[in-house]
Formats: sequence, structure tokens, C-alpha cells
Amino acid sequence: FGEQAVFDFSLGNPVMEPPDQFKYELIKYVNSAEAGKHRYMHNAGFLESRQAVADRLTKLEGVKNLTAEHVIMTCGAGGGLNVTLKSILNRGENVIFFAPYFVEYLFYVTNHGGKCKVVQTRPDFDLDLDRLEKAINKKTRAILYNSPNNPTGKIYSEKTMRDLGRLLRAKQKEFSTTIYLISDEPYRELIYDRQSYPGTFPFYANSIVVGSHSKDLSLAGERIGSIAVHPRAKDAAQLIGAMTFCNRTLGFVNAPAIMQRVVSRLQGVKIDVAQYERKRNRLCDGLQAIGYHLDRPDGAFYAFPRSPIPDDTTFVKKLAADARVLAVPGTGFGRKGHFRLAYCVDDATIEGALPGFEKVFRDLKPTARRRA
Ligand code: PLP
Repeated sequence: FGEQAVFDFSLGNPVMEPPDQFKYELIKYVNSAEAGKHRYMHNAGFLESRQAVADRLTKLEGVKNLTAEHVIMTCGAGGGLNVTLKSILNRGENVIFFAPYFVEYLFYVTNHGGKCKVVQTRPDFDLDLDRLEKAINKKTRAILYNSPNNPTGKIYSEKTMRDLGRLLRAKQKEFSTTIYLISDEPYRELIYDRQSYPGTFPFYANSIVVGSHSKDLSLAGERIGSIAVHPRAKDAAQLIGAMTFCNRTLGFVNAPAIMQRVVSRLQGVKIDVAQYERKRNRLCDGLQAIGYHLDRPDGAFYAFPRSPIPDDTTFVKKLAADARVLAVPGTGFGRKGHFRLAYCVDDATIEGALPGFEKVFRDLKPTARRRA
């Protein structure tokens, strides 16, 4: 049909260009006289970059004694999560995560001999701590969560995080084990409606924060992120030693050198988040006006509306066939009856797709449509 006539919401690949400061710092660094820019380095990354991440997280998380020693530079959050799981998992141990989930978690966990245990969230996508409590046992090594969430855009509240921390402390005591809380946060800076992000470290000591600049600086192809270990995590030094080793032996060897240097000068800088907020508003308002049901996303750049018919896969195929709109069925994220739209797209894609969304909705017989 030609690119202009197909409206693709299927991938979380940011449409926005990196901020101008990125280009400025990149050119400045590349042209600098510094020798050895392209050599190997310490496996955890450059001290300067690790310190910059530690300084930023100290401010954001309000935690004491977080230093460069607690930070490892990684090949994005994907690299950081694999390094973390490789470092903490013994074969056959469980990692619990929440549905709907980021599909790669299934592979990241099994890559390192772990077993996935999926816990459904509540209908509003908040964490269901009663279900989580029942799922934790002595084989549970980690809880992996993602906020703002892909695919729902949900941010877990401070109260949810406090209750989660309390539950994990009780469970560690009950089973005499160490349970890590891993926060996967590539969307941390993409937050709307002046909401705030409560953080992870204030609520639980055995926690690990995995960050990324794929989305906040729009550097997804450059592969740059970080791991930070809570300074009071059990055996923190040994854990960081294991992570440093795994950062090398998993095959990445180190995070890209130039990107480490550049992002160390850009901590706290981000793309214009208001642009994503505007896209969210236009898409969600448009869908709701047609009659689609959705929880307005708090952050990230995904919406997860209810499918107007129970079978989300059939609905997504119908969208593609009748309206040339590409989406992903909720079933793929472990939650039937929904579909995901990645709205990190041009405005023209949103505007072009809305009439198609309307046509598909109107063409469904009212008796076939689900009620609110
Ligand atoms: N975690 C989640 C929830 C994601 O959505 C993504 C990418 O889309 C990643 C991790 C991987 O991000 P990165 O590019 O930093 O490896």
C-alpha cells in the first residue's frame, strides 16, 4: 500500500531525535585530543560515567552512600538485565514478573537457567500483592518489575512500592533467603500529568535499578544503560563483582566507550517529554471518543486498550486488514482481551489511523462488542 498508507504502532522504536546537547557533546568528545578513546576499559565501565549515574540516582532515589562502586555501565537495559540475572540465578530458581509483561523477560530469565513465574496484575494493571504473596516460595530469587510499564504505561504508586517492600522483607524472613527486587526502568523519565516516580531504593534494600538511555535520550541503537546496586544490598560488593565479570563474559565485554563518555555529560538531560504526552492525549482522546475503553497511560509511550471483541488476535488482524493499522495483541504480553499501541510515532500516523480505528469499531455488530 506504500508506507504513508500503513499506520504502524507495533514497535517501541522512538521516533524523536536525541536532544541537541547529545550531538554537541558527541562532536566535542570525538574532536577532543584525548588519547585512547577507543581502548578496552575496566569491565564495569569508566569511573567518570559510573560516578555521573551514581550522582543522578542519589538525587532521584534519595539514598545515602551510593557511589561509582555501585554502578556498572551496560549495553542498554537489555544488557543490564541479562548481566543481573546471570549474576544472581542458580539453575531452577524462579523469577517472578507481572502480566502484562515485556515479552523478552521470558527469554532473559531462561537464558540463565531461571524459571519464569507470571503473576497477573489487577484490572487497572496495579500490582496484585495478594497474588504475588502466594507465588513467592523458597525458590524465588527475584521479582522483576517495570514502571512506567511496557505495555500498559502504568506507574506503581508510592503506596504499592512500600507494600511491596514490606512483603518482600517478610518473605525473606519466612524462607531465610535473599529475594532481589529488580527495577527495569527505561521509561523512568517519560512521565505525564506532572506525576512523580517514587523510585525503588527507598523501599527495599536488596534492590537493583537497571536504567537505559534508549528512550529518555532516544539512543536505542547506541546500546547504553546502567545497573545500580543498592549500597545496603546483602553482599553488595560480591554481587557487583559478579556483575562486572558477567558484563564481560556474556560477550558485550563493555558498554560502548564513546557513548559512556557522552552520557556521563548528559545525566538529567532528556528529549522533550511533552511531545510524547501530546501524542498520548491525541491518541487516547481519539480512541475514547470512538468508544474504545482504555486506562490512560501514566508514562512510557504505550497504550493498552481493551479489544472491542474478546479475541484480541482476531481484532488485531481485523485492524490490519480493514484499516491498515498495525498493533500487537495483548495475548503476546500475557494478557488477553487487549491490544498494544506504541505511540512513539509521527503525528501523521496517529491522525491517519483514527478514521480506521473508527471504521473497524463501527463495523463490529453492537452485539459482538464487549461492554465496559
Ligand atoms: N525493558 C523494557 C520494558 C523495554 O520496553 C525495553 C525496550 O523496549 C527494554 C527493557 C530494553 O531496552 P534497551 O534498549 O535499553 O536494552
